[in-house]
Amino acid sequence: MARAHVLGVPRIGPNRELKFAQEACWRGEIDEAALKAVASGIRQANWRQQHAAGLDFVTVGDFAFYDQMLNHVALLGCVPERFGFGERIALSEYFQLARGNAACHAMEMTKWFDTNYHYLVPEFKPDTHFALDPGGLFDEVTEAQTAGFAAKPVLIGPLTFLWLGKEKAAGFNRLDLLDRLLPVYAQILARLKAQGVEWVQIDEPALALDLPAEWRSAFERAYHALNGAGVKLLLASYFGPLRENLLVALKLPVAGVHVDCVRGGDELAQVIDWLPATKVLSVGVIDGRNIWKTDLNAVVDRFEGLHARLADRLWVAPSCSLLHVPASLAGETAMDAELGNWLAFADDKIAALSTLKTAFNQGRQAAAAELSANARALASRGASSRVHNTAVAARLAALTSIHDVRNSPFAVRQSVQRERFKLPDFPTTTIGSFPQTPEIRHVRARFKAGALGEADYTTAMQNEIGHAIEKQEALGLDVLVHGEAERNDMVEYFGEQLSGFAFSQNGWVQSYGSRCVKPPIIYGDVSRPRPMTVAWARHAQSLTVKPVKGMLTGPVTMLQWSFVRDDQPRATTALQIALAIRDEVADLETAGIGIIQIDEPAYREGLPLRKADWAAYLEWASRAFRISASGVSDATQIHTHMCYSEFNDILPAIAAMDADVITIETSRSDMELLRGFGEFSYPNEIGPGVYDIHSPRIPDVEDMTRLLEKAAQVIAPDRLWVNPDCGLKTRGWAETETALANMVAAAHTMRQSLQSAIR
Ligand code: GLN
Ligand code: ZN
Repeated sequence: MARAHVLGVPRIGPNRELKFAQEACWRGEIDEAALKAVASGIRQANWRQQHAAGLDFVTVGDFAFYDQMLNHVALLGCVPERFGFGERIALSEYFQLARGNAACHAMEMTKWFDTNYHYLVPEFKPDTHFALDPGGLFDEVTEAQTAGFAAKPVLIGPLTFLWLGKEKAAGFNRLDLLDRLLPVYAQILARLKAQGVEWVQIDEPALALDLPAEWRSAFERAYHALNGAGVKLLLASYFGPLRENLLVALKLPVAGVHVDCVRGGDELAQVIDWLPATKVLSVGVIDGRNIWKTDLNAVVDRFEGLHARLADRLWVAPSCSLLHVPASLAGETAMDAELGNWLAFADDKIAALSTLKTAFNQGRQAAAAELSANARALASRGASSRVHNTAVAARLAALTSIHDVRNSPFAVRQSVQRERFKLPDFPTTTIGSFPQTPEIRHVRARFKAGALGEADYTTAMQNEIGHAIEKQEALGLDVLVHGEAERNDMVEYFGEQLSGFAFSQNGWVQSYGSRCVKPPIIYGDVSRPRPMTVAWARHAQSLTVKPVKGMLTGPVTMLQWSFVRDDQPRATTALQIALAIRDEVADLETAGIGIIQIDEPAYREGLPLRKADWAAYLEWASRAFRISASGVSDATQIHTHMCYSEFNDILPAIAAMDADVITIETSRSDMELLRGFGEFSYPNEIGPGVYDIHSPRIPDVEDMTRLLEKAAQVIAPDRLWVNPDCGLKTRGWAETETALANMVAAAHTMRQSLQSAIR
């Protein structure tokens, strides 16, 4: 009898109940008891759902008030010393670790593998000690058991926990903490055993990464040490194939392994070959990273034979935790039925597990209705004219090498553009957005709700543009922007105007803490029915003689921040978006916009988990960017912008994008991140950010001059631009004006010293 289970489910509640309760608690509007009651309600509803779907266990420990890694910091008693808390922390202290307090900055946050979820980074020092927290997880196990459910707790494994942490002292290796950590894991397992738990899921997604040899060999040591606990361990890997870690994983002394058959499907035969005869194999057959219905008939075809051999040693599951997909389609009242029928959010994925379990254990006939409904949904998607657009396919097929190169090399373009724009040395500009005031948000909301007509909305936005242009002229900036008042989220803004994109009303996914995002759904071939930004840009340009920079979002970022099609390669979708942007770039150029920025803040985060896969990604990603940017004359200046600048390992690919100007975030690292560009001899112009827009601190002229002087030591001064780190939409006008006035003054200082140096 095949079994079915999930690795984890969304914890925010179907209508973001957790978010609203957290934020109310932080504002002091509800007390902790009320927040805990909401949390318990979410957990109970999740367990009831898993139980009702006939899953063999309910998963416990996938809930977190902020983050699962932070939960483990608490569970393992390794709270950063600098906060001065004890080993056991209260909920209010837990939140201070995540959000900081007056005395201590928050724990660092970073992306969870290649997802858009962010975790808090454990801090390790040579004297870090671990001590079990007897509350938390164990209470939740009791809570599930008391409600009558068979609980399968989930833990982040010791090696993944250490791997994802950071050393906060020089000259030591956090792997050295393993021997101190393992006894605490053993205590956890012993306690769970005493609670009557049969299976514990232990997540080691680090197995999907390139691991140094010493880390790989540590797995064997670690799991031998945990072997004696008496509970059965299901070692879960996900987010990619195991590759050279495959044997390591399969030979560990655990009772079962889970593998990601969506991303690691090619390895399945090898996994089965090496699977020891007594081990359980949990196959992750339902995509936990995307929102499409799984082809259930194909899964049954593929695994029927294996089920006959493994019987109750075969478990079916999603590829990874369902944390990365929205909870339920139930709230999507505005979504059309055809598209809705192609989608599966978390609750549909759980229902699909139930169908698979029935089909394996009782024969296909017993699940005939569900299987044929699934087949019909897939057939409808496969044949839909909304998905396939022959004109887009023809354009893609006609792409040749002339479409992804500019007419002339950079040096030629640079002199043509200098002649055209006659900008001063150290030209000043901004990244695109200006403060999004409550008034702007209000106008947008009223327009969206239908309470404000198109004409009034246009007037209101044009007034905002006028205001932004006036301010920029008064500040003396050289290249102006229209300010992006009409945009809420950049990907949403463009997605809403492109064919092939759809939006849910309630498809929220946790990004970090109480923050959730609602990614667009790219379901069909992408094209641009009509210009998207031209009218705004033209209006802005009509108000000034200075050049106004057109502002677009690039193909890689649009792809990266959306749920994408699973019926064609990501690269193909990226090229389709690139062509749509290329059309917009051409229209902007025709409208007289001479400088166009194509933002790619997500370019770096699109990198695959494994280095071996980087080259292929960078090849299509940089080509997609160039296709979007290369349809213009030499005299049109293309900018790109990226947040963060840890690009040292991909500088050739950044250079291969061939943007005339790149603006990057460098002020927080005190220009250190720019050094790599210098050493690499980055060929084109660069605007290293001199104003940290994430900080409320207003930099003064000296601060920014010093940063520019530092920059001028690594980049030739005649290729340097002066700009903030990122867009200003989260800042207020007063601070923005002061900071930009200081920035312009810093540029003047630089110009003067350059002039006197030449003289
Ligand atoms: N042009 C965008 C802005 O200024 C860029 C945003 C980003 O880099 N994430 O807001
Ligand atoms: Zn940015």
